[in-house]
Amino acid sequence: MEKMITCVNCGAKFEQSLVRCPHCGTGYEPAEENEYMDSLDDIRTELQSHKDDGQKRLKKGLSKTILIITVILALIVAMIVSGMLISSKLDNNRRQQQKEEFRSNQGITSSQENSEK
Ligand SMILES: [Zn+2]
Repeated sequence: MEKMITCVNCGAKFEQSLVRCPHCGTGYEPAEENEYMDSLDDIRTELQSHKDDGQKRLKKGLSKTILIITVILALIVAMIVSGMLISSKLDNNRRQQQKEEFRSNQGITSSQENSEK
């Protein structure tokens, strides 16, 4: 990007390549340029700090997103595990039921078994 010069006379900003102010025709002095470069450096430093802030904010947002994803994954895992537990319980119940049906088919019900004890 072209360096911008502030006119010593009228304060207008113009590109360094123009050498003279397009408004009043005053040539810029190197001393003035140095001063301007200093202020440019300040602006650059400020911009850099803003950029760092932005990156920090981005990282913060990213870690927040990772946290949310972790929580969601944990919930999904918990749901899967509880679903497996429930289905295995249901399986056990079904097996138990089938066992009792098998017994009752043979004429031995679980109630009779209990009364025999
Ligand atoms: Zn000027």
